[in-house]
Amino acid sequence: MSGVPQSNPQKTFYLETFGCQMNVHDSEKVVGTLIQEGYLQVQTVEAADLVLYNTCSIRDKAEQKVFNRLSDYKKYKKQGKTFGVLGCVAQQEGEKIFERAPYVSLVCGSASYNKLPSMLAQLEAASVATREIPFDKLRAGSRPAGENAGLRDDASVIATAGKSGSRKPEAESLVRITGLDDRETDACFETEFTARTNPHRGYITIIEGCDKFCAYCVVPYTRGKERSRTSQSVLAEARQMADLGYTEIQLLGQNVNSYKDSEGNPAARKTFAELLAAVGEVPGIRRVRFTTSHPRDFGRDIVEAIDAVPTLCDHVHLPVQSGSTRVLDAMQRLYTRDQYLERIAWMKAAKREISITTDVIVGFPGETESDFAETLGLLEEVGFDAVFAFKYSPRPNTPSLKLDDAIPDEEKARRLEVLMAKQREIQTTSYKRYIGTSCEVMVEGRNEARVQWMGRTTHNKTLNFTAPATANPKPGTYAPILVTSSFPNSLLGELVL
Ligand code: SAM
Ligand code: SF4
Repeated sequence: MSGVPQSNPQKTFYLETFGCQMNVHDSEKVVGTLIQEGYLQVQTVEAADLVLYNTCSIRDKAEQKVFNRLSDYKKYKKQGKTFGVLGCVAQQEGEKIFERAPYVSLVCGSASYNKLPSMLAQLEAASVATREIPFDKLRAGSRPAGENAGLRDDASVIATAGKSGSRKPEAESLVRITGLDDRETDACFETEFTARTNPHRGYITIIEGCDKFCAYCVVPYTRGKERSRTSQSVLAEARQMADLGYTEIQLLGQNVNSYKDSEGNPAARKTFAELLAAVGEVPGIRRVRFTTSHPRDFGRDIVEAIDAVPTLCDHVHLPVQSGSTRVLDAMQRLYTRDQYLERIAWMKAAKREISITTDVIVGFPGETESDFAETLGLLEEVGFDAVFAFKYSPRPNTPSLKLDDAIPDEEKARRLEVLMAKQREIQTTSYKRYIGTSCEVMVEGRNEARVQWMGRTTHNKTLNFTAPATANPKPGTYAPILVTSSFPNSLLGELVL
């Protein structure tokens, strides 16, 4: 943890994070903010006064995980702990969470995190007042479930006391605070108090929200409209990180390459590719990554920037979702198979070899065997270095909920298995190309059981390696490794002395 002074810690909090890198980084900022407010972070629910879950609702499974956690906490509530739900499930479900999980006191969407200190203060003040107000005077019951969920940007407090009219012991009266975001919000969670968990590589969010509205996706509803930071503030953060000793920076956004500089002076605005290059030129920064890119906004200038600036990593994650133009159209992805392949051709023509990875959804409503075969064909044609594949999961509020021709779950599972087996074959063969080459890794740690070190290449591949006992490579340093064998998902090598 760095850059966060610990001011007289008293109250303790535990935070568990679900989901994508954006959530991981949001949590780093929430942790920094709470520490600044005088809280102390602890590693178990048992040790915490305040228990927070930063949630993900991208697929049903992710959402269920959170409710499973919450169903477990009745026993903890009796010990006087306060529970809060943050992030996408909070924004999606709003006050309905209080019905499903009645002991939750705080529900807060991601664009309201800058209000967290005042919300927590309100919560504390209200719980003191609740203890002092005669029980009968409390407003009973919560608001109607889901009413206006996702449409408000105010923080509101409701003191409730179980069922209307019932008399319950004081300890069971509940105070509830909601901070839900307006989709049109301009708020970005920028803070100087970020508790980054890794001292060598760190995230910077450059754009929040999404305006693409793919037919299957909750993000435009849970994270609001697209809004970008100024290139100046991004560069200032990158320089600050370099000063603190970070050498790798990953720029983040749901669609990172849809970045539009919000700099006031039009002459000073940077395109995404220019911003990438500028971050790559910050003294001390050795590696720059970015994720996730949307194919529609993926210009040739990004490839040119990678060619021109050696610190930009040789890796692009470009989710395709399907190899069938018909399905891409139904998904409202805004590009065709051919347009996707055109972007792949730009990358394959680059001066350096760029490793390409992707996301695929199988079993989107109406996906035929022949559509699925087109996706398998595309995997072969591109030769991705990794594929993150998911069964289509119907999500609340999304247009694809209304589509006919749902694919049965067993069939989705079958397609997923076929696709993963095909991709494993592809990687088993293609990773062999590294054998005999020397790759630079950032050392990440040591696997004591295997007597190996772990490293990551510029291509974002895990490269485990052996080294003489005297070498003792340190995490965060860079080392040349000779690759000696390959596996479908990783490489093995030895330190070059
Ligand atoms: N913005 C990125 C893009 O456009 O490709 C993707 C961000 S999304 C948070 C990460 C991945 O989750 C997507 O690429 C998609 O494959 C998957 N995903 C999103 N919604 C899904 C759903 N309803 N069912 C299954 N997978 C889903
Ligand atoms: Fe979701 Fe599509 Fe936006 Fe990506 S571009 S976050 S998949 S709506």
